[in-house]
Amino acid sequence: MYNHSLISLYVHFPFCGRRCRYCDFFSTEDGTASIDGYIDAVANEFRMVIEKNDLHASRIATIYCGGGTPSLLSPRRWYTFVDTVIKKLPFAPDLEWTIECNPDSFTEEKAAVWLDTGVTRLTLGIQSLQDRLLRFLGRPHTARQALDLLENPILTTFNSVGADIMYGLPGQTVKAVAQTAVRVLDSGTAKHLSAYELTIAPDTPFGKHQRLLPLPSEEDRITMHETIREIAERHEFEQYEISNYARPGHRCRHNLRYWMHEPYVGLGASSHSYLHPYRYANIADLRRYILDIKSARFPTAYTERLGTEELSREAILLGLRMPEGIGEDRYRRLTGREFADGDRGKLLEKLAQEGYMVHTGGAWRPTSKGILIADALAGKLA
Ligand code: SF4
Repeated sequence: MYNHSLISLYVHFPFCGRRCRYCDFFSTEDGTASIDGYIDAVANEFRMVIEKNDLHASRIATIYCGGGTPSLLSPRRWYTFVDTVIKKLPFAPDLEWTIECNPDSFTEEKAAVWLDTGVTRLTLGIQSLQDRLLRFLGRPHTARQALDLLENPILTTFNSVGADIMYGLPGQTVKAVAQTAVRVLDSGTAKHLSAYELTIAPDTPFGKHQRLLPLPSEEDRITMHETIREIAERHEFEQYEISNYARPGHRCRHNLRYWMHEPYVGLGASSHSYLHPYRYANIADLRRYILDIKSARFPTAYTERLGTEELSREAILLGLRMPEGIGEDRYRRLTGREFADGDRGKLLEKLAQEGYMVHTGGAWRPTSKGILIADALAGKLA
């Protein structure tokens, strides 16, 4: 179970043209920050991680380049990044390699370079197709740029394209959410849809003025989520996680590996890693990250050793967000315990009678009614 022969790789690019007002991901809009110095540090960090964890014989199953805005990298820097970082380990034959792409920093030249180096999947940061909302969020692109990108024929040369949209935004209506989802999916380009509800972090401009934001009611937010699900289903997308939908064959394998407790290495400032039994995170500080790596120190912010209790809690929490639910064999392998034992077994029977859970194919799965209250179910079952 705890075999590191296949790993996933996440690389964080902490650079943005400008900061969106709701965002609490780690990134800088400082145009003087040294991107070349950062790529160099990421390459050295990967070398150190391979040495420390003896990953020399590992192969890479999936890669996810996120941020920040990885699509800001120029073709020259992208080639340097691939040569110095990504090529340190061989790829598995069915590699999935995703890059997050914002509509304003996309160019056909970059797309050609990504394809040339082996990128298989794009995920487009669209968020909304209402210019008024995009401006309010501080997004660096317009609805027209997003629609033009969805119509660009070069996108069809990638194995898969996903789109990210948001709901629960200030001043957003159910109708506006529906219009965005329909226009994105009608394009036919996106085969994967992530729809995340806005969460407001205190240290963001939105967090500082939260009381003034005209946020939709809880009832409207639930309706938005339901509306997106209905539109996705009408477009023959399956919901495979509470916020993620895909056409058959287009699920994001990288995310699935996170949710299934497969090993992953996160590189770069603020990235997270899981190499059993440890989960750890890097510091969210660009200058200190580069300095630590230059001094051959791991830039670790925290390390946590996952014991049986933590693994059990996570397996339940993540399993209840997916229609696949909690596989009894997988739970046993992960924790050494039976999932439906004792009081939990009785509770599962009760939840099944109430229509929230179903026991089928060796797994306890949330029904479509259950997945809506996944966190509450996890609170009872974990
Ligand atoms: S582009 Fe993405 S990472 Fe950058 S500030 Fe906006 S939401 Fe955050």
